[in-house]
Amino acid sequence: MLNPDKVAEFSTLLRGRVVQPDDADYDASRRVYNAMIDRYPRLIVYCRDVADVMHSVNFAREQSLLLAVRGGGHNGGGLGTCDEGLVIDLSGLKGIRVDAAARTVRVEGGCTLADMDHATHAFGMATPSGINGSTGVGGLTLGGGIGHLTRKCGLTIDNLLEADVVLADGRLVTTNVEQHPDLYWALRGGGGNFGVVTSFLFRLHAVDTVVAGPTFWPLERAGDVMRWYREFIVSAPEDLNGFFAFLTVPPAEPFPPALHGQKVCAVLWCYTGPAADADKVFEPVREFGPPLMHGVQAMPFPVWQGAFDALYPPGLQWYWRADFVTELSDAAIAEHERYAAAMPTPHSTMHLYPINGAAHRIKQADTPFSYRDAQWAEVIVGVSPDAKDAAQITAWTKDYWDALHPHSAGGAYVNMMMDEGDERIRAAYRGNHARLVEVKRRYDPDNLFRVNQNIRPE
Ligand SMILES: Cc1cc2nc3c(=O)[nH]c(=O)nc-3n(C[C@H](O)[C@H](O)[C@H](O)COP(=O)(O)OP(=O)(O)OC[C@H]3O[C@@H](n4cnc5c(N)ncnc54)[C@H](O)[C@@H]3O)c2cc1C
Repeated sequence: MLNPDKVAEFSTLLRGRVVQPDDADYDASRRVYNAMIDRYPRLIVYCRDVADVMHSVNFAREQSLLLAVRGGGHNGGGLGTCDEGLVIDLSGLKGIRVDAAARTVRVEGGCTLADMDHATHAFGMATPSGINGSTGVGGLTLGGGIGHLTRKCGLTIDNLLEADVVLADGRLVTTNVEQHPDLYWALRGGGGNFGVVTSFLFRLHAVDTVVAGPTFWPLERAGDVMRWYREFIVSAPEDLNGFFAFLTVPPAEPFPPALHGQKVCAVLWCYTGPAADADKVFEPVREFGPPLMHGVQAMPFPVWQGAFDALYPPGLQWYWRADFVTELSDAAIAEHERYAAAMPTPHSTMHLYPINGAAHRIKQADTPFSYRDAQWAEVIVGVSPDAKDAAQITAWTKDYWDALHPHSAGGAYVNMMMDEGDERIRAAYRGNHARLVEVKRRYDPDNLFRVNQNIRPE
């Protein structure tokens, strides 16, 4: 039982606020992005600075409280919160500083992808991240970071130059290729296992206006489209990214009314090369066969980065399962066709994100992200605004995954897993798991940071 005097004493050390179960905003404060997650923390600490984070880590350790760290709160499995324990909420750490001459950006731990893109776009630059503006830079980066720029610039972790980290003993350290290199290695894919990252330093790339948008084909052509796509995207110029998706066309502009509500297969493109070459680069797409819609156009990069935000606001029910894919076989395509036709709700979807190109030039052991030989990160996502659909979207996702898993590379991208147990975590890290355990023992031997895809120190 936590002593209220201790909590009061702790609160006086902080610039930020502590929210407790009796507070009027407790319910709003405990919510995370996925409405399927319904946890009741004992304390939610809205940290305002690094000192608040250090005090919170020390307090959780001294009081033997379960500790969760919330960056953007987007984690599908709800790993940004917990029952009974202390949640460090980083949303007050929003500082961003672009160094245009050095081509770097320093981003504090509570920033979202939209915050970061907004800041860097003013300088005509970007660092690779994910496809949804409201995702936290923290969780996304620590797991890997896959998005529209992966083929051109690599994963987010491939562009991480340095991080400030509050360790389990409450100390703040800076880590980079020279300082605490083992920690620097582990942060690039090992998740939140090693401490609270209060700021990240990323390399920037010249990415400004892009030619982006979707191409839709009828669902009945899914087999042909997938067979064409699996050849095309592995040899396309690296300036062109395109992830494959099954989706339901939203009933809104800019989609033609005739397509509203129709299930389709799609590729969502992002071309970052010279605008004058765009027509030529998209020529094979147009030649492949008549699409229902080919909607690419020039737009500022952050517009494309935020294009799905309105469709997927916080508060929906989410259940997802993932795997890496080395070869998209005909047998796998047949299963995809079967389950795509049975997509249970308009928000449900399946994505295949290409992780080749620049992401393939990093060696398997150079970062914990262990599937540098895979071509795609596959994710099956059951989503609905209605809690009544929870069982149905979960069942569809699990059945689809069960059918696809034998055709996969074996492990999944940690950021797209639910709470699936130790075996799946080991499969995600393969040969890098043992080294992660070593680093965990050094920096967090008592496993204070365990609300994550946990690397157990024992
Ligand atoms: C709509 C949607 C779209 C997505 N799109 C993509 C995508 O395009 N590409 C992609 O790679 N992933 C994507 N993801 C997955 C995303 O990367 C993970 O859900 C990730 O965990 C989210 O990070 P967060 O900070 O928002 O989450 P949180 O729930 O806050 O945290 C997730 C985990 O990271 C830890 N953590 C977060 N911040 C820190 C920090 N500063 N220091 C230490 N630990 C920390 C937490 O403790 C927790 O274990 C998407 C998720 C959603 C819901």
